[in-house]
Amino acid sequence: MKASAALSQGAVRLEGDTFYVPGLTNSGFVDGLAIDTGPEESGYEGVAIDTLAITHGHADHFACGAFLRGRGARVVAARDDASLIENPDINIRGMFSWAKPADLLVTKLFQGTPCGVDGLLELWDDPRAEAVHLPGHTLGHTGILTRDGVLFSGDALYREVLWRRHPLPYAIDPDMVAASLDRIASLDFSWLVPGHGEPAPREEALSDIAFHKEQIAGVEARIVELLDKPHSTEEAIAAVSAERGLSDSPAGYWLAVTTVKGYLGNLLGRGIIEFYVKDHTGYWHSL
Ligand SMILES: [Zn+2]
Repeated sequence: MKASAALSQGAVRLEGDTFYVPGLTNSGFVDGLAIDTGPEESGYEGVAIDTLAITHGHADHFACGAFLRGRGARVVAARDDASLIENPDINIRGMFSWAKPADLLVTKLFQGTPCGVDGLLELWDDPRAEAVHLPGHTLGHTGILTRDGVLFSGDALYREVLWRRHPLPYAIDPDMVAASLDRIASLDFSWLVPGHGEPAPREEALSDIAFHKEQIAGVEARIVELLDKPHSTEEAIAAVSAERGLSDSPAGYWLAVTTVKGYLGNLLGRGIIEFYVKDHTGYWHSL
Protein backbone atom coordinates (compact mmCIF):
# COMPACT_ATOMS: atom_id res chain seq x y z
CA MET A 1 0.00 0.00 0.00
CA LYS A 2 2.92 2.35 0.40
CA ALA A 3 3.68 2.57 -3.30
CA SER A 4 2.54 5.84 -4.80
CA ALA A 5 0.70 3.84 -7.48
CA ALA A 6 -1.87 3.12 -4.76
CA LEU A 7 -2.57 6.84 -4.45
CA SER A 8 -4.88 9.20 -6.16
CA GLN A 9 -3.38 11.40 -8.87
CA GLY A 10 -2.09 14.66 -7.52
CA ALA A 11 -1.49 13.28 -4.04
CA VAL A 12 1.17 15.22 -2.14
CA ARG A 13 3.19 13.59 0.64
CA LEU A 14 3.26 15.69 3.82
CA GLU A 15 4.85 13.38 6.38
CA GLY A 16 5.54 9.63 6.59
CA ASP A 17 2.70 7.76 4.87
CA THR A 18 0.29 10.69 5.03
CA PHE A 19 -0.68 12.32 1.73
CA TYR A 20 -3.23 14.93 0.85
CA VAL A 21 -4.97 15.58 -2.44
CA PRO A 22 -5.61 19.26 -3.10
CA GLY A 23 -9.07 20.10 -4.38
CA LEU A 24 -12.23 22.12 -3.80
CA THR A 25 -12.28 20.02 -0.65
CA ASN A 26 -8.92 18.62 0.37
CA SER A 27 -8.80 14.92 1.08
CA GLY A 28 -6.30 12.73 2.85
CA PHE A 29 -4.76 9.28 2.41
CA VAL A 30 -2.85 7.03 4.79
CA ASP A 31 -2.30 3.43 3.70
CA GLY A 32 -5.81 2.75 2.41
CA LEU A 33 -7.54 5.16 4.78
CA ALA A 34 -9.21 8.11 3.04
CA ILE A 35 -10.17 11.26 4.93
CA ASP A 36 -13.03 13.28 3.36
CA THR A 37 -13.64 13.25 -0.39
CA GLY A 38 -13.96 15.93 -3.04
CA PRO A 39 -16.37 15.58 -5.98
CA GLU A 40 -14.11 13.74 -8.49
CA GLU A 41 -14.77 9.98 -8.63
CA SER A 42 -12.10 9.63 -11.33
CA GLY A 43 -9.45 10.56 -8.76
CA TYR A 44 -10.05 7.20 -7.05
CA GLU A 45 -9.47 5.01 -10.09
CA GLY A 46 -7.19 2.14 -9.13
CA VAL A 47 -6.86 3.45 -5.57
CA ALA A 48 -7.61 0.86 -2.86
CA ILE A 49 -9.51 2.40 0.04
CA ASP A 50 -10.70 0.21 2.92
CA THR A 51 -11.92 3.02 5.19
CA LEU A 52 -13.32 6.51 4.61
CA ALA A 53 -13.38 8.84 7.63
CA ILE A 54 -15.64 11.88 7.18
CA THR A 55 -14.94 15.02 9.24
CA HIS A 56 -18.53 16.29 9.16
CA GLY A 57 -21.91 16.03 7.51
CA HIS A 58 -21.61 18.65 4.77
CA ALA A 59 -21.91 17.26 1.27
CA ASP A 60 -18.72 18.88 -0.02
CA HIS A 61 -16.81 16.62 2.40
CA PHE A 62 -18.44 13.31 1.45
CA ALA A 63 -19.23 13.86 -2.25
CA CYS A 64 -17.76 10.49 -3.30
CA GLY A 65 -18.72 8.69 -0.08
CA ALA A 66 -21.45 6.52 -1.58
CA PHE A 67 -19.20 5.69 -4.53
CA LEU A 68 -16.31 4.57 -2.31
CA ARG A 69 -18.66 2.65 -0.01
CA GLY A 70 -20.05 0.89 -3.08
CA ARG A 71 -16.50 -0.22 -3.80
CA GLY A 72 -16.18 -1.74 -0.32
CA ALA A 73 -14.89 1.09 1.86
CA ARG A 74 -16.15 1.17 5.44
CA VAL A 75 -17.45 4.65 6.21
CA VAL A 76 -16.93 6.18 9.66
CA ALA A 77 -18.31 9.48 10.99
CA ALA A 78 -19.25 11.07 14.30
CA ARG A 79 -22.60 10.17 15.86
CA ASP A 80 -24.09 13.67 15.56
CA ASP A 81 -23.15 14.03 11.89
CA ALA A 82 -23.78 10.45 10.73
CA SER A 83 -27.46 11.23 10.25
CA LEU A 84 -26.59 14.25 8.02
CA ILE A 85 -24.42 11.99 5.86
CA GLU A 86 -27.00 9.22 5.65
CA ASN A 87 -29.77 11.72 4.93
CA PRO A 88 -28.62 15.21 3.83
CA ASP A 89 -32.26 16.33 4.02
CA ILE A 90 -31.91 16.44 7.82
CA ASN A 91 -29.29 19.18 7.53
CA ILE A 92 -31.37 21.03 4.95
CA ARG A 93 -34.49 20.93 7.11
CA GLY A 94 -32.53 21.83 10.25
CA MET A 95 -31.36 24.98 8.46
CA PHE A 96 -35.01 25.94 7.82
CA SER A 97 -36.38 25.19 11.33
CA TRP A 98 -37.36 21.67 10.16
CA ALA A 99 -39.77 23.00 7.53
CA LYS A 100 -39.05 22.13 3.91
CA PRO A 101 -37.22 24.89 2.03
CA ALA A 102 -37.32 24.96 -1.77
CA ASP A 103 -34.00 24.10 -3.45
CA LEU A 104 -33.39 27.79 -4.18
CA LEU A 105 -32.74 28.42 -0.48
CA VAL A 106 -30.31 25.56 0.02
CA THR A 107 -26.56 25.88 -0.47
CA LYS A 108 -24.97 23.23 -2.72
CA LEU A 109 -22.73 22.42 0.23
CA PHE A 110 -25.72 20.76 1.92
CA GLN A 111 -27.00 18.93 -1.18
CA GLY A 112 -25.34 15.61 -1.77
CA THR A 113 -25.72 11.91 -2.40
CA PRO A 114 -26.68 10.09 0.81
CA CYS A 115 -23.97 7.74 2.07
CA GLY A 116 -24.40 4.93 4.59
CA VAL A 117 -22.29 5.14 7.76
CA ASP A 118 -20.85 1.85 9.05
CA GLY A 119 -19.13 2.95 12.23
CA LEU A 120 -18.79 5.84 14.67
CA LEU A 121 -15.64 7.94 15.05
CA GLU A 122 -16.30 7.96 18.82
CA LEU A 123 -15.59 4.20 18.85
CA TRP A 124 -13.02 4.20 16.07
CA ASP A 125 -9.81 2.34 16.73
CA ASP A 126 -7.40 2.44 13.82
CA PRO A 127 -3.60 2.32 13.89
CA ARG A 128 -3.40 4.89 11.08
CA ALA A 129 -5.17 7.82 12.74
CA GLU A 130 -7.26 9.02 15.67
CA ALA A 131 -10.42 11.08 15.83
CA VAL A 132 -10.46 14.41 17.68
CA HIS A 133 -13.88 15.93 18.36
CA LEU A 134 -13.82 19.57 17.17
CA PRO A 135 -17.45 20.74 17.26
CA GLY A 136 -18.89 24.16 16.40
CA HIS A 137 -19.04 24.13 12.58
CA THR A 138 -21.41 21.20 13.09
CA LEU A 139 -22.18 19.33 16.31
CA GLY A 140 -20.27 16.20 15.42
CA HIS A 141 -17.43 17.87 13.54
CA THR A 142 -14.28 15.79 14.09
CA GLY A 143 -10.67 16.20 13.03
CA ILE A 144 -8.53 13.24 11.99
CA LEU A 145 -4.94 13.18 13.30
CA THR A 146 -2.78 10.68 11.48
CA ARG A 147 0.02 8.65 13.08
CA ASP A 148 2.44 10.88 11.15
CA GLY A 149 1.24 13.99 13.01
CA VAL A 150 -0.90 15.44 10.19
CA LEU A 151 -4.23 16.89 11.34
CA PHE A 152 -7.08 16.95 8.81
CA SER A 153 -9.14 19.67 10.44
CA GLY A 154 -12.20 19.75 8.14
CA ASP A 155 -13.91 23.13 8.50
CA ALA A 156 -12.91 23.72 12.14
CA LEU A 157 -10.27 26.30 11.10
CA TYR A 158 -10.55 28.85 8.31
CA ARG A 159 -7.02 29.94 7.48
CA GLU A 160 -6.46 33.69 7.33
CA VAL A 161 -6.38 33.88 3.50
CA LEU A 162 -9.77 32.14 3.28
CA TRP A 163 -11.51 34.89 5.26
CA ARG A 164 -11.36 37.21 2.23
CA ARG A 165 -13.73 34.86 0.41
CA HIS A 166 -15.61 33.74 3.53
CA PRO A 167 -15.91 36.72 5.87
CA LEU A 168 -18.53 34.97 8.03
CA PRO A 169 -17.70 31.24 8.08
CA TYR A 170 -20.64 28.98 8.83
CA ALA A 171 -20.85 28.07 12.50
CA ILE A 172 -23.74 26.66 14.48
CA ASP A 173 -21.97 27.64 17.72
CA PRO A 174 -19.08 30.14 17.61
CA ASP A 175 -18.21 29.50 21.30
CA MET A 176 -17.72 25.82 20.45
CA VAL A 177 -15.64 26.81 17.41
CA ALA A 178 -13.34 28.88 19.65
CA ALA A 179 -12.98 26.01 22.15
CA SER A 180 -12.19 23.62 19.28
CA LEU A 181 -9.52 26.01 17.96
CA ASP A 182 -7.89 25.90 21.42
CA ARG A 183 -8.08 22.11 21.30
CA ILE A 184 -6.33 22.08 17.91
CA ALA A 185 -3.55 24.29 19.29
CA SER A 186 -3.04 21.78 22.12
CA LEU A 187 -2.60 18.83 19.75
CA ASP A 188 0.74 17.44 18.72
CA PHE A 189 0.71 17.94 14.93
CA SER A 190 3.36 19.03 12.44
CA TRP A 191 0.96 19.82 9.55
CA LEU A 192 -2.64 20.92 9.45
CA VAL A 193 -4.70 20.24 6.33
CA PRO A 194 -7.86 22.38 6.32
CA GLY A 195 -10.93 21.31 4.35
CA HIS A 196 -10.37 24.25 2.03
CA GLY A 197 -7.10 25.99 1.17
CA GLU A 198 -3.42 25.14 1.51
CA PRO A 199 -1.96 22.91 4.24
CA ALA A 200 -0.16 24.78 7.01
CA PRO A 201 2.93 23.81 8.95
CA ARG A 202 2.34 23.99 12.70
CA GLU A 203 3.56 27.56 13.29
CA GLU A 204 1.42 28.96 10.47
CA ALA A 205 -1.59 27.00 11.70
CA LEU A 206 -1.15 28.47 15.18
CA SER A 207 -1.14 31.97 13.74
CA ASP A 208 -4.28 31.15 11.68
CA ILE A 209 -5.94 29.87 14.86
CA ALA A 210 -5.17 33.16 16.61
CA PHE A 211 -6.60 35.05 13.61
CA HIS A 212 -9.77 32.94 13.54
CA LYS A 213 -10.30 33.49 17.27
CA GLU A 214 -9.79 37.27 16.84
CA GLN A 215 -12.40 37.30 14.10
CA ILE A 216 -14.93 35.48 16.28
CA ALA A 217 -14.27 37.89 19.16
CA GLY A 218 -14.54 40.85 16.75
CA VAL A 219 -17.89 39.74 15.28
CA GLU A 220 -19.20 39.13 18.77
CA ALA A 221 -18.07 42.53 20.09
CA ARG A 222 -19.63 44.25 17.09
CA ILE A 223 -22.96 42.45 17.62
CA VAL A 224 -23.00 43.62 21.25
CA GLU A 225 -22.41 47.22 20.04
CA LEU A 226 -25.08 47.01 17.34
CA LEU A 227 -27.57 45.69 19.86
CA ASP A 228 -27.28 48.80 22.01
CA LYS A 229 -30.32 49.56 19.91
CA PRO A 230 -32.78 46.62 19.88
CA HIS A 231 -32.72 44.65 16.61
CA SER A 232 -35.21 42.08 15.39
CA THR A 233 -33.61 38.77 14.36
CA GLU A 234 -33.99 39.81 10.72
CA GLU A 235 -32.37 43.20 11.37
CA ALA A 236 -29.51 41.61 13.30
CA ILE A 237 -28.82 39.18 10.44
CA ALA A 238 -28.90 42.04 7.91
CA ALA A 239 -26.61 44.27 9.99
CA VAL A 240 -23.98 41.58 10.57
CA SER A 241 -24.12 40.40 6.93
CA ALA A 242 -23.66 43.97 5.66
CA GLU A 243 -20.75 44.67 8.02
CA ARG A 244 -18.99 41.47 7.00
CA GLY A 245 -19.50 42.31 3.32
CA LEU A 246 -21.56 39.25 2.38
CA SER A 247 -23.11 39.22 -1.09
CA ASP A 248 -26.88 39.00 -1.46
CA SER A 249 -27.96 35.47 -2.44
CA PRO A 250 -30.78 33.30 -1.11
CA ALA A 251 -28.54 30.32 -0.24
CA GLY A 252 -25.87 32.56 1.30
CA TYR A 253 -28.50 34.38 3.31
CA TRP A 254 -29.72 31.15 4.92
CA LEU A 255 -26.19 30.17 5.91
CA ALA A 256 -25.75 33.60 7.52
CA VAL A 257 -29.06 33.14 9.39
CA THR A 258 -27.67 30.09 11.19
CA THR A 259 -24.31 31.68 11.94
CA VAL A 260 -25.74 34.97 13.28
CA LYS A 261 -28.24 33.02 15.40
CA GLY A 262 -25.25 31.02 16.67
CA TYR A 263 -23.67 34.25 17.94
CA LEU A 264 -26.97 35.53 19.36
CA GLY A 265 -27.64 32.26 21.18
CA ASN A 266 -24.12 32.27 22.70
CA LEU A 267 -24.45 35.91 23.88
CA LEU A 268 -27.92 35.28 25.31
CA GLY A 269 -26.66 32.18 27.12
CA ARG A 270 -23.86 34.22 28.70
CA GLY A 271 -26.32 36.90 29.86
CA ILE A 272 -24.75 39.64 27.71
CA ILE A 273 -27.87 40.33 25.64
CA GLU A 274 -31.58 39.78 26.20
CA PHE A 275 -34.35 38.48 23.95
CA TYR A 276 -37.99 39.47 24.01
CA VAL A 277 -41.02 39.34 21.75
CA LYS A 278 -42.99 42.47 20.94
CA ASP A 279 -45.77 42.74 18.36
CA HIS A 280 -45.03 39.13 17.37
CA THR A 281 -41.43 40.02 16.49
CA GLY A 282 -38.38 38.71 18.35
CA TYR A 283 -35.87 41.37 19.46
CA TRP A 284 -32.29 41.20 20.75
CA HIS A 285 -30.88 43.91 22.98
CA SER A 286 -27.58 44.38 24.79
CA LEU A 287 -27.82 44.50 28.58
ZN1 LIG B 1 -18.60 22.31 6.28
